[in-house]
Parts: sequence; structure tokens; C-alpha cells
Amino acid sequence: MQQADQPKNKDYPFLKGGGEMGELMRTTDWSATALGTPDTWPQSLRTTLSIILNSKFPMFLWWGPELICFYNDAYRPSLGQHGKHPSILGMPAHLAWSEIWNTIKPLISQVLAGGESTWSEDQLIPIYRNGKIEDVYWTFSYSPVADESGEVAGVFVTCTETTAKIVANKQLEETNRHLKAAREADRLIQKKLQENDNNLRLIILQAPVAIAIFRGPEYVVEIANARALELWGRRLPQVLNKPILQAMPELLDQGIKQLLDNVFNTGEVFSVKELPIQLFRNRKMTTAYIDFVYDPLYDAEGNINGIITIGTEVTTQVLTRKRIEESATEFQAINEELVGANEELASTNEELTETQWHLQQLVVEIEKSESRFRNLVQQAPVAICLLRGRELVFEAANDKIQFMLGKDAAIIGKPFEEAVPELKGQPFFKLLDDVFTTGENYYGNETPAVINHKGQLINGYFTFIYQPIKNRDGITTAVMIVAIEVTEQVNARKKVEQAEEMLRFALEAANIGTWYINSDTRELKTTPRLRELFGYDVNKEMTFDEAIGQVTEDFRDKILEQINAAIENGGNYDFTYTMRRFNDDQLIWLRSLGKLSRDHENEFTTFSGVVMDITEQKQDEQRKSDFIGMVSHELKTPLTSLTAIVQVLNMKLKNSEDSFIAGALDKANIQVKKMGTMINGFLNISRLESGKIHVAKEHFDMVLLLTEMMDEVKLTVSSHNISLAPHEHVEVYADRDKIGSVISNLLTNAVKYSPKGKHIEVKCVVTGNNIQVSVKDEGMGIKPQDIDKLFDRYYRVETAHTRHISGFGIGLYLSSEIIHRHDGEIWVESESGKGSTFYFTLPL
Ligand code: ADP
Repeated sequence: MQQADQPKNKDYPFLKGGGEMGELMRTTDWSATALGTPDTWPQSLRTTLSIILNSKFPMFLWWGPELICFYNDAYRPSLGQHGKHPSILGMPAHLAWSEIWNTIKPLISQVLAGGESTWSEDQLIPIYRNGKIEDVYWTFSYSPVADESGEVAGVFVTCTETTAKIVANKQLEETNRHLKAAREADRLIQKKLQENDNNLRLIILQAPVAIAIFRGPEYVVEIANARALELWGRRLPQVLNKPILQAMPELLDQGIKQLLDNVFNTGEVFSVKELPIQLFRNRKMTTAYIDFVYDPLYDAEGNINGIITIGTEVTTQVLTRKRIEESATEFQAINEELVGANEELASTNEELTETQWHLQQLVVEIEKSESRFRNLVQQAPVAICLLRGRELVFEAANDKIQFMLGKDAAIIGKPFEEAVPELKGQPFFKLLDDVFTTGENYYGNETPAVINHKGQLINGYFTFIYQPIKNRDGITTAVMIVAIEVTEQVNARKKVEQAEEMLRFALEAANIGTWYINSDTRELKTTPRLRELFGYDVNKEMTFDEAIGQVTEDFRDKILEQINAAIENGGNYDFTYTMRRFNDDQLIWLRSLGKLSRDHENEFTTFSGVVMDITEQKQDEQRKSDFIGMVSHELKTPLTSLTAIVQVLNMKLKNSEDSFIAGALDKANIQVKKMGTMINGFLNISRLESGKIHVAKEHFDMVLLLTEMMDEVKLTVSSHNISLAPHEHVEVYADRDKIGSVISNLLTNAVKYSPKGKHIEVKCVVTGNNIQVSVKDEGMGIKPQDIDKLFDRYYRVETAHTRHISGFGIGLYLSSEIIHRHDGEIWVESESGKGSTFYFTLPL
């Protein structure tokens, strides 16, 4: 079909308008077609064409037996830029649509035959356009058009191309498919992650060190293994899913929050050694020393969303070390420390064994999650490394073991022998090889080793485990080393042992026995020397009851009382007593000194001390008092006659002209009196000690006695101003002479120990059922450390000042004995440099 050259036929009103297609139809030379010129076209075709040309909706028409093609402007884009248009106008359908004729023909025939309209949606009908066959989708309707005779003569097509929509839908579908695949992949990844997480959880839960994860800025406990719970002193329900600081409020004022916050906010890893932390465990606050790290945890976007902590408690080690340090200086405590230290070291070893057991559990996990394991190894607070294969190649080694061996990360990938050549000649290569061969653990306890530290050979002690790692078939594939350095402890202990040895020599040389009593069980432990003192078999332990059984009856209750008091109040114990030796029944004097000591939990458990034989000392004292007693007694007779003679002379020469004689006799009288008091004092002591002192009670007026004694003192002393605070007369029932000598002693002391011209005030008051007498001076006073000993026999305060004041230190001793025999009390209140007040009370 060609475009006609004939004059344009624009006279057909049904071809009016219709834009470009209308123009084309009008100018086409139809005479050559099967349809003939338009003026011959039936009315039905004309009407239809008029509708088509004037519609803005894409429309098409096949008409007549040849199905000649007509279409409008709106339809043209569907034919493509360089496709059929404009050539198919007026063409028979089977030529115009040859490429799809087989597809559309049945439908067209159906419409032509049945007269029913069709509706097809998004149908793929590829057409030739734009120079090629294109996949084009259509939604279209074929409708029959009848001619004048009522026969179907044409097929009217309205259609829209839906290719764009379909392509979009297809893309959408494709996208959805991708999305689904992506989701599936994501799910798998999540599952993997979950598995990994589960692996991590397993590792954490079985780890031989305390591990916990805190989530979010509140540090909610997400996971905490048994070691962590043990360390915290909590059960799982008490901490799980709770903010850690809420679950463990005792941490609040210990700076832990600041540490966590810093890690959470800055991402900086925090690591600390031997940090003392107060923990509420077993219903009490205890100090725990902990090595731990805080490591930030990140979410998928790289934001910090939690903290993992890994730690071990090193309290026992720290305390052991501290105690070892202390014991080096505390000579006296060495024995107890040693026992403790040994126990602690034993428990350290136990811990190591336990660690090893847990590590065995970990081995299976290791295979699953190698990198996480490496991480754990790196962070573990003990030295760990993994040696792979017969060659024992370093596969992983944390910083601690690198440091321990004096190496760096360069050892990774090297065989052990090559990496640590200085161990040649030491037993370790062979031991490791044996572990690999036999598949059995090797435990090294405090094994000495020489290690090359930066070119320097250093001696150290190590406690370690060589642990074979086996595959599922039980074949050893690697060896794991877990080690701790114990050089410090071993050295410290050696020092302690040396010191202990010295102490033992010293104790043996000094004939001193040592003992310990468990304060709970009263179990007694003694040294052979002590058993010898008690007359028991030196090779057999002696019980507490056996020991007490040997103490003589007069001391037995008292000693039990003292021991109980010392254990309960934690004070010192110092007791002197007699006992009968078990083997020969000989009476001996012993002095026991003891002290309650704290164990590592800071509880008092051991009551320990020393016992020494002081029989000889006691016998010396006895001989001394016997001698003093004897001499005093012998002196007493001549002194009595001397006193009498001086008194007679005094009377006779009272009125002598010679003033010297009168004065000399006065002085002689005073000196004789002094001598008398002194000798009486000594006599009293020996009487007291032999139990011969006798208290002869009578009723007398205390105020009168005080006045009398004051007058007597005033006779010889004019240097001080002595006064009695006024008081009504009060009658007491006591030994008048002896109480008199107490008062006299207090008065003469007040004079002796205060400067001339000072005031001395005597007071007598009734308080409740007691009468209380006091003597107050303004003298040198007494230092606190001397006050307790003042009333001991022969005790004198030794200062440059007192050295020139005569005395024997027996006055206060006798006074206190006398007052105690009257069921009274005697004491002193004093301030050094300001003066003293001595008090005694007597029951009324
Ligand atoms: P003596 O006076 O013979 O030494 P005492 O038994 O009477 O023995 O006293 C014991 C010690 O107590 C004295 O040596 C002295 O150091 C101290 N003392 C006693 N009374 C006083 C006092 N009033 N002021 C200061 N020190 C005193």
C-alpha cells in the first residue's frame, strides 16, 4: 500500500478531524484496496471510523473479509517510532500482524463468528516495532461491528499497552524475590550468630574464670557464669536481668559505676590487678582482691551496647603475700603465718587443678569457636598457650605467657623448642613431649625454671599444667599450658622458713615451748619442748584437758578464766602459775604469754603463744624475800632497843642547855622512825608472801585516823602544806594499824614526789556503801604507761628525777594488798607534770 499522489479527497465527512491519522486516511488512495474508495464504504464502517478518529483512546479496526487495518492517533505509539506506522493503514490484518497472526487470529475469528466481545488483560503479544520484535503487554477488548446487513463485518479493538505496568510489576516481583532471599539469608545469618552466641554462652558458662555480660547503660546482667556468681556471693536469680549496681548495692560507693561508665562511653578497655573490693558475701562484708577487665561490646552498627567482664579472685594470693610480708617482720607471728601460708598455697594449687578441669570442658568448644577462644585466652588472667602438633607450634599465647617466657607475639607459629631455646637442658621439652605421647596431664608444682628475659637469665618458680588436647577420636593434637608464676610466694615462703628455723633455734635455746589453741574447738597443738615442760611424751600430742589437768588447783580456775577472756575479747594473755609435772610430779612455775590472731577472713581463730619455765626465777625471788624477811626480822630487835634509848634520852635531855643535843636527838628520832617504817614494810612483805599477814578488824573513826596520820607526817615534814577537807565522823570496821600504814604511805609519797611548798589535800567521802579516801598532790604525776604497774612489787618509775628519791617500790604494793584484803579498791588518777590523786575505798 502506498500513499496516493492523487488530489486529496477531503470530502468524506466521516473522515473529518482525526489528527494525523485522519489526514492520512483522507489522502490515501483507497481505490486500489479491496475496500474501494471511501464513498463506497458502508455506513457502519463510516460511523465506526468517525468514532475511532475522534477518540483520544487508542482504537483499532479490522474491517471486511480481508480485515483491513484502521487506527487512530492515540494508537500510534503502540506501533513504535520506527515500526509499522504509518505503513499498516489499509493493510490486510494477516500481512500487517504477520508476526502474531497465529496468536490473534483465533480470537478475531471467534469474535467474527460469535459476535461476542472479548476482554484480555495484560496479555503478552510481542510485536515488531522499533526495528525489532518487542515483548509488549496489552489489555484489550475485541468487539464485533456489524454492517448494514447485520452481519459482523469488522472487529473493533480498544486497547492500552500495559508493558510499563507489567515491567514494573515484574521488577517488583523480582525485588520481592530478592528481598525474600535476603531475608532468608539474614535468618540464616541470625541463626548462625545465635549458634555462635550459644557457643559463646557455653564457653562463658564453663569458663574457669568469672565472666559476665552487662547490657545497656544500666548494665543489666545478661549472663554470669558460676565463677562470677561465686565471686559476687550471689545466686543467679538475684542478679539475672537486673542492673548490676542494683543487684549489688555495696558496689555503689566503690567507684565501680565510674569505671563501667568510662568503658561504656569511651570504649576504652579497663584492666586492673588486685583491686580490693568490698563484697557482701555469706551475709557479711568481706574484702576481695580481684584481677579483672571490662571490655566494651558493640552492636552491628558499631555502637557500644554492653560490657563483658572477665575476672579472677586473687584474694587468697594477695592475702597470702601480704601475710607473708607481715610475717617477715613480725617475728613472733611467724609460726602461725607459716601454717596459714602453706594452706593458702595448697588451695592455690587446688584452684589450678580446678581451672584445668574446666579447661578440659572447654576443649570441645574451642574447636567450634576458635577466634572467640583466642580472645578468651588473651583475656584470661592466667598464662595460657596452645601448642599444636608434634612440633608443638605456638598457635595461641596470651600476653601473660609471652611475658612469663620473656617473649613477644613473634613466638606464634614457631615450635616451642625454637621459640624458647633457653629451656634446653631443663626438663620442660621432655615433659611436653611426654604429654603429647602419653596423652596424660602433667602437673608442675613450684618448679624452678631459668627464663631468658631480654637477654638476662632469671630464676623463677612456676606452678603449671600441661594438658593434652585431643580430637574426637581421642588422639592428642595439641598441648595446652596453663601456668602461674609463684616465684614471689616461693621466695617469701623460703624466707619465712628460714626465719622460722631461726625462731625455732631461738625458742629452743631459750627453753620456750609454743602452743596454739583453736578458739572454736579448743584443740591444742604444742611443740615437743612444751610437752617436755609439762612432763609428757615429747612425741605425742597433748590435749587441752591434759595440759590444764597439770595446773595446780589454786590456779586452775583462774587460768581457764583468763584463756576464755582472752579468746572472747581478743586481748593479750599473760599468766604465771604453778603446775605439777606429769612424769615426776615436781612443782614448777610457768609463765604463759598468748595472743589471739586473725585468720585471712579476719576472724579470730588461733589463740597462740609461748610458755616458759620460770621456776628458777621464782626460787631466786623466794630466796630473796626469805633473806629480806630474815634480815628485817633480825634488824627489828636492835632497832626496837635503839628507839627506846632515843626516846629515853629525848625525855632526859629535853631541857638541855645545849641546843645541838636537842636538835640531834630530834633528828635521831625521825631517822629511827623512818627505819622502823622501812623494816616493817619488808617484814610485811615476807609475811604477806608466806601468807602470815593477819587482818585484825576493829571499829574506828576514819576521820580521826586521817588526822592522826597527818599529824604524824607533819611532825617530820614541814615543807608541804597538808590539809583535810572537812567531813563528819564516819566509823569503819577494819584493821586500824594497817589502814593507818596505807594512809601514811600515800601521804609520804605525796610529799616525796611533789616539790616543796606545794599543797596536799586529803579527802574522805561516803559513796553508796563505801567510804572513799583520797590524797591529792601537785607533784610530778605519773605517765599512763606506768600507772598499771605502780602497785606491783618493787616497781619504781625510773626517771632522772625519781632516781634521787629513796624508796624500794614496796609501799604501794603493800597498800594494795592490804586494801584488797579488806575487799576494797585502790587506784590512781594522774596527769604527768600536774599531780596525782590516789584513792582507796573500804566497804562500810
Ligand atoms: P617508793 O616510793 O618507795 O618507790 P611506792 O610503792 O610507794 O615505792 O611507789 C612506787 C612508785 O610509784 C614510786 O617509785 C613512784 O615512782 C611512784 N609514785 C608513788 N606515789 C607517787 C606520787 N604521789 N606522785 C608521783 N609518783 C608516785
